[in-house]
Formats: sequence, structure tokens, C-alpha cells
Amino acid sequence: MGKQFKVALLRGDGIGPEISDEAVKVLRALEPKHDVAFRILEGDFGGAAYFKHGHSFPEATKELCDEADAIVKGPIGLSHEESKKIPVDEQPERGALLPLRRRYNTFANFRPVYLPAELAHFSPLKPHVVEGGIDFMMIRELVGGLYFGTKETGVNDQGKRYVDEHLEYDEDQIAAILHVGFKEAMGRKKVLHNVHKSNVLKSSVLWNEVLDEIAPQYPEVTVKHIIVDAAATALVLNPRQFDVMVMENMFGDILSDLGGGILGSLGLMPSACVGPDKAYYEPSHGSAPDIAGKGIANPYSMIGSIALMLDKSFGMPEAARQVWDAMRAVFGEGITTADLRDPEGKSTILTTAEFGDKVVEALG
Ligand code: NAD
Repeated sequence: MGKQFKVALLRGDGIGPEISDEAVKVLRALEPKHDVAFRILEGDFGGAAYFKHGHSFPEATKELCDEADAIVKGPIGLSHEESKKIPVDEQPERGALLPLRRRYNTFANFRPVYLPAELAHFSPLKPHVVEGGIDFMMIRELVGGLYFGTKETGVNDQGKRYVDEHLEYDEDQIAAILHVGFKEAMGRKKVLHNVHKSNVLKSSVLWNEVLDEIAPQYPEVTVKHIIVDAAATALVLNPRQFDVMVMENMFGDILSDLGGGILGSLGLMPSACVGPDKAYYEPSHGSAPDIAGKGIANPYSMIGSIALMLDKSFGMPEAARQVWDAMRAVFGEGITTADLRDPEGKSTILTTAEFGDKVVEALG
């Protein structure tokens, strides 16, 4: 009997259940090849969980996540109109996503932005900008900053409604994510782009001080500083200059969606959210209510998240590589989902489930 892993599966909202089905197909296909068994524990999470249980992160789901070796999470969230039916603090991100991140202190978020040369035509950028493909890693701090700081709303002395949200980091939190960035850079091209806003934000001043203190531990890594707004421009004009980028929570949230944009679809953005004891894996995108239930979502982000889990949580880099290769082979046959652009109109457009079947087929 080979190894066994317990995987908590939180299918989520919108396209979450559809793309989760494809991820499960891939996991099942890997079992006999690698003499491994994945025990899948399913839990309700997000908007659907709220409507069913009155909580978007129910106790039963917390227990199941505690028990699992790793967690795979589909996107959560509702349309603007549907969200209004849920109290503000139970809305999926505040009620489920941030508590999940806090529970396992998943401070290190890895977001690969990757398009091999032969698929560079998926990018909306001009061919000469993406010639040779796009391949860099965005590392986002995931449990601090503005998203996790204290929040207060009320009515002030002048009778005006106000909001007060704090951006908080301490030096240990900053050092922890910077070490992740340096280590990733050591395993790649040894160039680290540090994204900050120290011309305005004191949090970035402290961030850069901590960086200067720990950089001597990584003498082989060249640090390049870039201000976040300039980074947005550079990502569009010359994305190939980047290899590893490290940044605080909100910068990473916004710039990584730009990463999806330069690839051609958010459906190409998997991610790993890693804490000291446990990690969870999710697409970087949301629940895409505009296409939910139509069977047209791109499952690459969810299947890629599985590949990241195999590598980072289960010590199965060979299986992970096979998954990436299988998806690349499917695209290589001229097969895509509807979100990806094909300037010559030669692609065969498949449904979410058909694409998953092709990946399984390519796995052999
Ligand atoms: P979104 O990421 O869901 O969608 C943005 C666009 O990308 C849409 O046009 C969508 O159709 C497309 N898209 C996203 N994933 C795709 C895929 N796999 N295949 C093809 N196309 C894809 O962003 P949004 O519409 O702003 O947000 C929808 C909901 O998701 C909101 O409730 C938001 O709060 C939530 N959200 C959740 C997470 C998360 O669970 N981590 C992240 C971001 C947004």
C-alpha cells in the first residue's frame, strides 16, 4: 500500500464546483500512476455555505480542514447583488477566506505567472513583448497589512459616517515573507524585485529597512527595487524583466490579477498559500459569477493549484511536473477553453469538463 493523503476540498461558489470536478479527476488519475491514495474530505465554504448553514466558514468545515494534510479551495464570492443578502461580516471573503488564512497563518502566497513560448499568443500583449514566453513568480504576503488590520466604522462628531482601517505589519512578519522571496530567487535566476511604496507609505519604509537587514544572508541575490505603480506599468511593457517579485498583501492582490491579464486569462492563475504547518491551494481568481454554470470556465487554475499541492505539501514534484506537462500538451494540440484568445481562430474550444478529460488523457 502506497502513501495516503487527506485533502480537504472546499468547492466554493460560482465556477468553483465546476473547476473542482476537473481537479478531482486529475487527482484520481494520478493515484494508480504514483501508488498513492487521496482521501477527499468535502466541506461547505463561502456564500453557498452561508445560505445552507448560516455561516460562510462552518465549524464542521474547520474541523475537516484541521484534519486534512492540505486544503484545496475553489473560488468563493457572490455577485454584487447576491452579496447584499448576507451580513457584511459573513460575506465570503470576510467570513470565510480571511479566517481560513488566519487559522493556518498562510502568510506566503505563491502566484506563478507562466506562459510558455509556444502559448505566448494567448497574451493580449504584442508578440515582441512576450516573445519567448512569460515566466515569473509573484510572492504576496497573505495574512497582514490592510486586509487584516483593525477596522472600525461609525458616525463621527460631525455626524458623518466614517471608516478607519489600519495597515499593520511587524518586522517579523515582513522578514518572514522576504525570506520566502529570497529563497525562491535562490532557486531561480537570483534576481528579486522588491515591490513597495516607500515614497508614501511608512509600512514600505519599514519593509525596506528589514529587507536591507536580511539581504546580506543572500549575497548571491540581486535586489531590484520598484515602486508599485511603476511595477504595474512595467508588467505590461516588459514583463520578461521579472523573475521573482515580493510584495505586501494588497499590492499582491492587485498586481497578480494584472499577471492574469498579461497571460490572457485569470483562468491561467493557480496559487499556493503556505503557512508554517499547513497550506491551502486555490485559483487566484474569484468565482466568476458571469460565467458560472455554463461549463465554459478554464479549469487550469484549479488543476495547477493541485500541481502546486503535490509539489509543496506532498513531496511529489514528479507528479506535479506531469500535471503541468499534460496541460501544456493539451494547449499544444490547439485546444483551449473559451476565455483564451486565438488571433488566428484555429483553436478548438472545449468545455470545462472536456478540457479536464483531455488533461487526464494526456497524463496517460
Ligand atoms: P473574478 O476573478 O471572479 O472574474 C473576473 C473575470 O475573469 C470575469 O470575467 C471571469 O469570467 C473571468 N474568469 C475568472 N476565472 C476564470 C476562469 N477560471 N475561466 C475563465 N474566465 C475566468 O472577479 P470578480 O468578478 O471581480 O469577482 C467575483 C466574485 O469572486 C466576487 O464575489 C469576489 O469577491 C470573489 N473573489 C474571490 C476570490 C477568492 O476566492 N480567493 C478572489 C477574487 C475574487
